Amino acid sequence: MIPILKKQVDHILNRIRETAYLYGRDMDEIQLIAVSKTIPPEMIREAIECGLKTFGESYIQESREKIASIADSSISWHFIGHLQSNKAKYAVKLFDLIHTVDSIKLAYELDRQAQKINKVQDILLQVNVGMEGSKSGAPPEYVLDLTKAISSLQHLKVKGLMAIPPVYNSPERVAPYFQTLRKLRDMIRNEKIPNIDMKELSMGMTGDFEVAIREGATLIRIGTAIFGERG
Ligand SMILES: *Cc1c(COP(=O)(O)O)cnc(C)c1O
Repeated sequence: MIPILKKQVDHILNRIRETAYLYGRDMDEIQLIAVSKTIPPEMIREAIECGLKTFGESYIQESREKIASIADSSISWHFIGHLQSNKAKYAVKLFDLIHTVDSIKLAYELDRQAQKINKVQDILLQVNVGMEGSKSGAPPEYVLDLTKAISSLQHLKVKGLMAIPPVYNSPERVAPYFQTLRKLRDMIRNEKIPNIDMKELSMGMTGDFEVAIREGATLIRIGTAIFGERG
């Protein structure tokens, strides 16, 4: 086992635990996703040795090779990158949860591909909370309609929302975006749309996960604090 990696994993788990305690959150409702994009399989295997079980990948081609090489069915893989419709067939084969569905076109294609392999694919809807032109994600005001449209698709199951807020050097400045995502989730949940399970909030990365936990995150995506700066 690589001592520095073990130390960093233990440290992040402690910080999550302490933050959950501080804000009265239940630890069982906060899941750590180790973001392993660009990290080689040998290092991911080491991270599995350290007790990590869920990994987030951003690129289809890279993850196909890595997931095949690690070949460990006890590990859960999440897709957190931008997904093009023409890669949907790979995504449904590889991932337990796809965080980044932001259009009806992509949803239809995922549903079609999931049907082919007899799977009900869990997904999150990515929301462009900062209304940034450069970023993926559905505009907040479109997410309810998107959810309703997806609710009729038999091979997709919406589990919640995901956001990548604008980058600030102070995590407190990101808090309003996390609140926007949570309010949107609560609003959609109250609509009680059939086949929709609006529970999860995927938000928070190395720089701002503590604020995200305070604001209700259920899935936090952490790369740098576990694996160090990406090369
Ligand atoms: C890379 C990435 C992360 C991890 O970011 P860190 O700052 O390294 O923790 C989280 N979420 C998404 C969508 C990413 O692309």
